[in-house]
Amino acid sequence: MSPSVSAPLAEGRFWLPGPTEVHRDVLAAQTCPIIAHRGAEAVALMERLQPGLQALFGTRRSVVVLTASATALMEAAVRSGVRRGLLAVVNGAFSERFAEIAHDCPIDVEVLAVPWGEVVDPEAVRQHLKTGNFDAVSLVHSETSTGALNPVADVAAVAREFPGVQVIVDSVTGLGGTPVQADDWGLDFALTGSQKALAMPPGLAFGVASERLLERAVALDCRGYYLDLVRMYQNLQKNQTPTTPAITLMYAAAVQLDRIMSETLEARFARHARMAARCHEWVGEVRERTGLEVGVLATEGARSPTVTCISLPEALSGPAVVRQVRAAGWVIGGGYGRLKESTIRIGHMGDHTPDKLEELLPVVESALIQVSAGA
Ligand SMILES: *Cc1c(COP(=O)(O)O)cnc(C)c1O
Repeated sequence: MSPSVSAPLAEGRFWLPGPTEVHRDVLAAQTCPIIAHRGAEAVALMERLQPGLQALFGTRRSVVVLTASATALMEAAVRSGVRRGLLAVVNGAFSERFAEIAHDCPIDVEVLAVPWGEVVDPEAVRQHLKTGNFDAVSLVHSETSTGALNPVADVAAVAREFPGVQVIVDSVTGLGGTPVQADDWGLDFALTGSQKALAMPPGLAFGVASERLLERAVALDCRGYYLDLVRMYQNLQKNQTPTTPAITLMYAAAVQLDRIMSETLEARFARHARMAARCHEWVGEVRERTGLEVGVLATEGARSPTVTCISLPEALSGPAVVRQVRAAGWVIGGGYGRLKESTIRIGHMGDHTPDKLEELLPVVESALIQVSAGA
């Protein structure tokens, strides 16, 4: 009995910038029997996840495991971490989501707008924080919609000059593909989802809150119930969760964390950097070979190692290119939000390899040529 609605792709061919391809051993881990969520086995399972998560987050604190997609922890961070005013750095669709979440809360929000494809200048953050209007700043580490990588450590260092300003970071396509040092950088909340650079099945969100953030949170009355970080941490002290977690997803996470740790983070980050560099180089080659005006959207020097957003000449429609690639038996991402027509995205993250990327790139190049010939 298979719930699959289409024939499965061959392994190594699913290059969406999330959810990403999940290794068969990790998928198989989900068939372990269900256990009581308050029993000793569930506690042991949560304990087992911690060392790997702590290494990935660069923290000695316990890491929250929430059964939800990553957006839930974005919302939790805003609700539990902001008292008066949020400075939302927006350089793409996902960072915009922080501002949208904040609009629904009884706090002030101001957007520090950065052109899409670029990254924030820490000095601009300093100038905004000097107004005294903010007690938190949000930013996205790797903007999945544009492929830009924000200088999180530098922004956090600036924010630390202002006591009482909390730093909230979405590293959904950063963490696992590029270093995150939540403790050393002084992040008050860092979060990710299971289904991006960690290459686990979708459905879990992971995050770490600073003591400072939790102390503030206790006095806030808009934390919600399911999203309350204070309640999550009270339970986490006993290696438990406030409500029933997705036990099967936690099994998958345990196996994938073992795989990540045995590769080593250093090797994993280097593999991601290699794939990104190759992708950028290939875009230049395609431009020379075909004369098509393709480009890497994100500014050179500020590109994410996990996702490349490729800008297309006006005559080429992103969705048509994605369809053509799919017809050849591969999956890449379309543009996101307002970049839907004008870009395509390759998610070179998770367990993907430089070797398979060499197979994918000619397929995408053919699709570009075919679509431009038809246009
Ligand atoms: C995918 C993504 C999200 C949203 O994740 P969900 O798991 O779909 O809620 C948030 N931020 C970034 C940067 C993302 O790439």
